[in-house]
Amino acid sequence: MNPTNTGQPNTKSTAAQRTPENAAKPSWPRPLLAPWYALLRPQAAARHLVAARSLAFWATFATHVAILAGLSMFLALWSETVKTNLVPSATTPATTPTTAPGTASAASARLGYLGYNWTTELQTRSLGEVWRDWHRDRLFGPAEWIFLGVAVGVTFGTLFLAWLYLPFIHRSGSGWPSYWRALRAVVAGAGVLISLTAVVGASMVAYNNREQLGQLVPAAEWFAPGLPLACCLVLLAVSRAARGVAPADLSRTIPPMCEGCGYDLTHRPSDGRCSECGLEVTQSLGPQPRRRGLSWERRLALADWVSATWQVLRDPRRFYGRLELRTPMGAAHRSARRHYGWICVGASVWSTLMFVVVSGLYLTSLAELYAIGAVFGMLGLLICWLMHRTVGALVFTWWVIRGLLPDYRWAAKVIYYETAFLWLLCVFAGTLFTSLAVFGAWLADAVGTNLRFIWGVPVEMIVLFAGLAVLAIAWLWRYRVAGQAIRWSNF
Ligand SMILES: [Zn+2]
Repeated sequence: MNPTNTGQPNTKSTAAQRTPENAAKPSWPRPLLAPWYALLRPQAAARHLVAARSLAFWATFATHVAILAGLSMFLALWSETVKTNLVPSATTPATTPTTAPGTASAASARLGYLGYNWTTELQTRSLGEVWRDWHRDRLFGPAEWIFLGVAVGVTFGTLFLAWLYLPFIHRSGSGWPSYWRALRAVVAGAGVLISLTAVVGASMVAYNNREQLGQLVPAAEWFAPGLPLACCLVLLAVSRAARGVAPADLSRTIPPMCEGCGYDLTHRPSDGRCSECGLEVTQSLGPQPRRRGLSWERRLALADWVSATWQVLRDPRRFYGRLELRTPMGAAHRSARRHYGWICVGASVWSTLMFVVVSGLYLTSLAELYAIGAVFGMLGLLICWLMHRTVGALVFTWWVIRGLLPDYRWAAKVIYYETAFLWLLCVFAGTLFTSLAVFGAWLADAVGTNLRFIWGVPVEMIVLFAGLAVLAIAWLWRYRVAGQAIRWSNF
């Protein structure tokens, strides 16, 4: 057996023919329309943006940030067209002709506050009147602040999101070209983001306005999960776009390495030993290698997935020492997706149960249970995703700076399998919240009155964040173990 043959990286990916570098640079309108083309074909749209000239890409970026900021400004203006003001009842002359005090029956509630009689007053204005009121005594009013705030926020959010997706796009060499590719994949999601902002934002504003006017919206609870659902859909679109720009092939060949110390085994006989650490060459390169692979990656059965999850949680050194890194990503990705799916279901069921425990079963309606379950299920999923990808991106960046791996797709595979660790975070946070829901403020009672608030922060929050911080440190240690176990992989 010749060790040089077994050391070749597995390059059987199908995306090789689709990389756009060799294609001609697309003409002007195409990059500008790419985020909208992404509604239908996110991967192709992301490849268009990767192939675009820098100027065309930045013009696309700026245009879509401006569209989103303008849309947010419009939604804010629209929400101000119906407004409930609190006014002292002693001085309630009709200040403006459009003001109609006490038109809504709900608005006539009187509050005895600070000795004054207060009353609520419903104010309805047209979009133009709100705009004029906002610019009555200043040029740079709330509208401009909203535009600026959204533009800055979206720009930083896009840059951050591109960093989170970097591990799934970078393969070797400097990380910067991969970061720019990731950024273009994220911008390809702008069409989805703008569409969902328009739909979800408009329904939220319309609902609020109608509610203030006393017009009830039927079955409003069914639309409650709109916002977290929109976030999930945007991330889904960006994930798909990112898969379209990930390079398929490694530009260089990785030599066969000793699994014990990383020594280049190119010229060692296959029945010999590593001249550095003495490990048998057959242990590194086969036919009976240390790195035997996972049954989950070969079969994709539920039992194998559960067993792989148990193994990665119990002994990461052994798990990553056996994992094959040069094989396709499908199984690892599927494993992560499954974890996310069950975390979403788990958070949904748990939050519904907590709601019933806290409020009592007879006080809840089916629509409320659905709204709680759907909102918290997706919220839990989003928080878990953010923690998982942030820790992953931190470790990944550190590995790239140190030049740890010959092929950084291996790191993406580790990040996918590390999704399993989220269960520990969920169990910790879930146990804490459950105990608080069932036993009340037991933690505050246990620490006594002096420690109930520390620097104004409730002790429950401190325990939650301290626990999560400890788990995050454990997670970094796991990544360290994984990095050592995979860096000299031959399979
Ligand atoms: Zn060695």
